[in-house]
Amino acid sequence: MREREPNFQGPSPLLYLLATPIGNLEEISPRTKNIIEQAEYIACEDTRNSGLLLSRLGFDKKLISCHEHNEEQVSEQIVRLLNEGKKVAYMSDAGYPAISDPGSRLVANCLANGIKVATVSGPNAALNALASSGLDSTHFYFHGFLSAKPSERDTELEQIKNRKETVIFYESPHRIKKTLTALYESLGERKAVIARELTKAHEEYIRGNLKEFLDLDETTLKGEMVIIVEGDKSQPVVSEEAILEQLKSLLDEGLRSKEAIKKTAELLSVNKNQVYSLYLANFKNSLNRRR
Ligand code: SAM
Repeated sequence: MREREPNFQGPSPLLYLLATPIGNLEEISPRTKNIIEQAEYIACEDTRNSGLLLSRLGFDKKLISCHEHNEEQVSEQIVRLLNEGKKVAYMSDAGYPAISDPGSRLVANCLANGIKVATVSGPNAALNALASSGLDSTHFYFHGFLSAKPSERDTELEQIKNRKETVIFYESPHRIKKTLTALYESLGERKAVIARELTKAHEEYIRGNLKEFLDLDETTLKGEMVIIVEGDKSQPVVSEEAILEQLKSLLDEGLRSKEAIKKTAELLSVNKNQVYSLYLANFKNSLNRRR
């Protein structure tokens, strides 16, 4: 474990990640403005977009372009500036950096060089959409963008298909029709919500099911959107206790752990990885003779 140092105390430099508006400018917080004011450099995904945002907020700052294609090299420059004691903050085009946006390599490089990272809260399209969707938000899985390649996209959907949690996708308007078709074909009939133009004047929630969405007129599906899909309700949720009981009885019968895990997953129609994790947490040490 690294030596501990709270983010806002001690001598190590700190990179701020700033979440920025996803539409409505009023969603910039006083704290975010404060950090921008203090920053000597604003590193950003797109200097034109962030330049415009900053000028609307009344700031004139030195900008550093740091996007998907140069993040690795530019993060070295940012690390250098922070180590020289300069104040630097990073923002993507909208919402949280590093969430379906550049930023995670910059964060990793900062951390690898002893620089701390602090996120300044703000808007996020996925959470806005989920909270107002009306679908179960107790547990959710954020997938972000599906691959643009049909075969990769279908593999991703195959892996998502049996998840019980509500699933969140990002999509761009030019692929929405194909994605909605792929979602229906892979996941079947499910409740779903399209949340478009969040926080903007034309914000809209289209609530229905995946089959109905196939009939949506593409010309009305403009702007940015999040798709929220109900989790798999076809099988009842199997409790951990039930999985452990089944696993134990098969192990007691003398099955090897690998076979017992596979058979438990089949018998209860649950994910093999989940059974394996429960096996590791509950049986591995007492039964490791039986591999
Ligand atoms: N970093 C952002 C965040 O924290 O939400 C996400 C950036 S990602 C490149 C852009 C995608 O986010 C869009 O294609 C759309 O799916 C979703 N999105 C962003 N702004 C949105 C908005 N105002 N309304 C609906 N979806 C939005």
